[in-house]
Amino acid sequence: MEYAKDLSIVISLYNEEESLPELISWIEAVMTANSYNYEIIMVDDGSTDGSWKHVRELSAKNPAIRGISFRRNYGKSAALYHGFAAAQGRVVVTMDADLQDSPEEIPELYRMVTEEGWDIVSGWKKQRFDNKLTKNLPSKLYNWTARKVTGIHLHDMNCGLKAYRNEVVKNIEVYGEMHRYIPYLAKNAGFGRITEKPVQHQKRKYGVSKFGLERFVNGLLDLISLWFLSRFGKKPMHFFGFTGILMFLTGGFLALWVIVEKLIQQANGLTFRPVADQPLFYLALVAVLLGVQLFLAGFICEMISRNSSERNNYKIREEF
Ligand code: UDP
Ligand code: MG
Repeated sequence: MEYAKDLSIVISLYNEEESLPELISWIEAVMTANSYNYEIIMVDDGSTDGSWKHVRELSAKNPAIRGISFRRNYGKSAALYHGFAAAQGRVVVTMDADLQDSPEEIPELYRMVTEEGWDIVSGWKKQRFDNKLTKNLPSKLYNWTARKVTGIHLHDMNCGLKAYRNEVVKNIEVYGEMHRYIPYLAKNAGFGRITEKPVQHQKRKYGVSKFGLERFVNGLLDLISLWFLSRFGKKPMHFFGFTGILMFLTGGFLALWVIVEKLIQQANGLTFRPVADQPLFYLALVAVLLGVQLFLAGFICEMISRNSSERNNYKIREEF
């Protein structure tokens, strides 16, 4: 496949006006030193400060700089989605706009993709300069969970600095807040050659972080959703039907047990507790009802997935 550029650098930015001039001149220095044929795609995610004005001015000086500006703030995933769609480079590198990621890392990331043949090389902020309590510690826990669930062994899944083979970014669809799990999206799309490289990390020089502590709760929920989608997205009944039957049968068996036990005791003239006086009986009824509910949810999900435009969307490596 022929590509118009060697390298596309996709930068999502939201209110980062102070950082932009420094960031761009730093990237330009690295690009010139390595004589890349490159483009920089700046996606302005609805900034309300002077960021977009800066992008326009910078691109007037350097035609390799392209810009996309959202009318409002949609989030980093949306910005990356459009940046990926626009990228023409053989290798696509993403980085944050806040000067926390170092452009000096790009040549090695580029080399690892082009020469070593990785689908994704993800940055790893081994030494991190963020708040320890609110970011570094929860991030360790979060990454451990993500490794267990996704089976991808990255220390820093959500690192903004990553390099991709062009084909990868064209075959995944980042949506919602799934920018945290791009390696997982890629793996599910059949791009499993994923590795990491320790990268330099700086303290935020200007502006403020755009994500608070809610990132960890939302991140966990998204992880569960992705896990569910990747395992059962195309066959939801296998999940709901199985758990539904299990619940239904357990509940049915317990209810029957309570009834039969009482009948036997009654028939033999023993002391017995009326069925309606036994807590287990009510628990059993709840289980039966939940089982039916799960089963119905399974049918509904099957109808949704039957109608999904994704239902026969397979990633083909080669065909002739
Ligand atoms: N960002 C964005 N849209 C948003 C929030 C953030 O494009 O709604 C950009 C932000 O400008 C930065 C990158 O995403 O370039 C990472 O954000 P931030 O530095 O706030 O995250 P942190 O480093 O605190 O994880
Ligand atoms: Mg940052």
